Amino acid sequence: MSHPLLDLPPLTAGHFASIERKVAALLRTGNDVVITQGEALLPLEGCIRSGARPGGAALNVVTGPYGQTFGDWLRDAGAEVVDLEVPFHAAAGAEDVARALAAHPEIDFVSLVHAEAATGNTNPVAEIGEVVRAHGALFMVDAVASVAAEPLEVDAWGVDLCVIGAQKAMGGPAGVSAVSVSERAWRRFAENPAAPRRSYLSLLDWKQRWIDTGRRALPHAPAQLEMLALEACLERIEESGLDAVLARHRAAAAATRAGATALGAPLEPFVHRDRDAAPVASTLRTLDGVAADDLVARALAIDPALPLVAGGGALAKEMVRVNHYGLDASLDVVLRTVRALGTALDVTDPTAALAAAEAAWTA
Ligand SMILES: *Cc1c(COP(=O)(O)O)cnc(C)c1O
Repeated sequence: MSHPLLDLPPLTAGHFASIERKVAALLRTGNDVVITQGEALLPLEGCIRSGARPGGAALNVVTGPYGQTFGDWLRDAGAEVVDLEVPFHAAAGAEDVARALAAHPEIDFVSLVHAEAATGNTNPVAEIGEVVRAHGALFMVDAVASVAAEPLEVDAWGVDLCVIGAQKAMGGPAGVSAVSVSERAWRRFAENPAAPRRSYLSLLDWKQRWIDTGRRALPHAPAQLEMLALEACLERIEESGLDAVLARHRAAAAATRAGATALGAPLEPFVHRDRDAAPVASTLRTLDGVAADDLVARALAIDPALPLVAGGGALAKEMVRVNHYGLDASLDVVLRTVRALGTALDVTDPTAALAAAEAAWTA
């Protein structure tokens, strides 16, 4: 008996290369794209272990938990690490990065998370990229939570290494990711004797065996399901139009923040300024001793399909995350979220909050 998920023919080299080109188009880059079969942490770790080295120095901008992970890898790779810690309710500023680089001229690698789904903030990559380029460091951006949620211009912003995953705003599957690699980054990797080789983490292996041989023969059999799903979500974005997809995410964030504020309940946007709030997901802070994890459980009991989760670790008591990405970047999901949170917080009449959310969506 045949089955739609089984008995698939192997993916051809040409087909695989065409998916890479679609990713490159989405990222607005002429750089090489490597599709990695594994979660986004795979290329992120590969980039750091290839680009950072003993004797080197790195600036790690920390605006959430992923930045903390990068710092561990950078130290592990032997680099001197300067952590630029930014409060989770705000964003990094280009002037902070400029100051850190001026204080540490030896820095040759900068890692930055574009948007943090876990904390709900987004950082001005274009402005920071300008500062990093002027300094001359290699620039790595984790765009897992920003791709397809907000503008991402890899070449215009001078991003040497841009990592994405399909499972957030792209609306694709978890477990497949990609990275774009600039010429400069390839040179740095090649000059780094500590860069992984003959390893699942090795981007250089991919370059040698796939890119440098003209993308004619695949070094291994790609995971068909993941690749076909990645292709499908890229095509769906193309069909809707990227601008429309970005606009949906922007509207969902604005509407969630406006609706939560207008509930008049012990709840406020976690990220203070609208411009620092990530379009991919909105975080809300509970007040007056309301436990965020209890609130999430009560709201999910009312509407189990909502994309609600409490903050991770220490944030579980004070942060509600609304993961309005992919198909959940819709007015319906936002309104149901505001309604369920209102009911769970004993708001008797959510009419004004729903109207505020709808108005923000339309604006
Ligand atoms: C979700 C996310 C990741 C992790 O992606 P995985 O594919 O689960 O490894 C990394 N960085 C950011 C900013 C994310 O939002």
